Amino acid sequence: MLNIVLFGPPGAGKGTQSAKLIEQFGLVHLSTGDIFRANIKGETELGKLAKSYIDQGKLVPDEVTIAMLESEVNKSDSPKGFIFDGFPRTQAQAQALDTFLSSKGTTISLMLALEVEEDELKKRLLLRGKDSGRADDQDPAIIQKRIDVYQAETMPVKTYYTQQGKYKGINGLGEIDEIFNALCQAIEEVTGK
Ligand code: ADP
Repeated sequence: MLNIVLFGPPGAGKGTQSAKLIEQFGLVHLSTGDIFRANIKGETELGKLAKSYIDQGKLVPDEVTIAMLESEVNKSDSPKGFIFDGFPRTQAQAQALDTFLSSKGTTISLMLALEVEEDELKKRLLLRGKDSGRADDQDPAIIQKRIDVYQAETMPVKTYYTQQGKYKGINGLGEIDEIFNALCQAIEEVTGK
């Protein structure tokens, strides 16, 4: 299996690139943000809980997020692999993912990290907020909070995969196709194609 963690701060372009990568490599896309938003829309219990955190720019608690992610993985019948988008976002999530995947006889192949500087992220998120209607993209204070949470809680995940020799940074500035090509190249280095 080819299991990729697509990593990067809010607004780095994970969603855009995931859509292209799943098509290219035949993978299943699991975006925790998308799953939470679908639950919010459907007014499920999980959605109500997630909304109370998301609206403040905080992370949804690990226990809830991990259980949800595992249940989504279990829904897929013999996939070629997964793109994990927005997960893991904490060290505890990364450890849980390793344990879970190894119980299924597989592992993370590669972490691809989209690198974009903070000023650019803020610009992109505010722009996205205008079109998407996402409340968390419309308030500069919430955007700042998410970037701060990323630095404090999510950056350790980079160290986690670096220690496993699986981290690969990709410049997230430039044309969408240019970035996509760089991602494909990094994947092909791992798959040996
Ligand atoms: P972005 O990358 O733009 O912040 P996402 O759609 O990935 O957007 O996530 C939106 C929100 O959903 C996050 O700010 C967070 O509150 C919650 N969330 C998403 N993934 C996770 C996760 N792995 N752990 C905890 N909370 C998460």
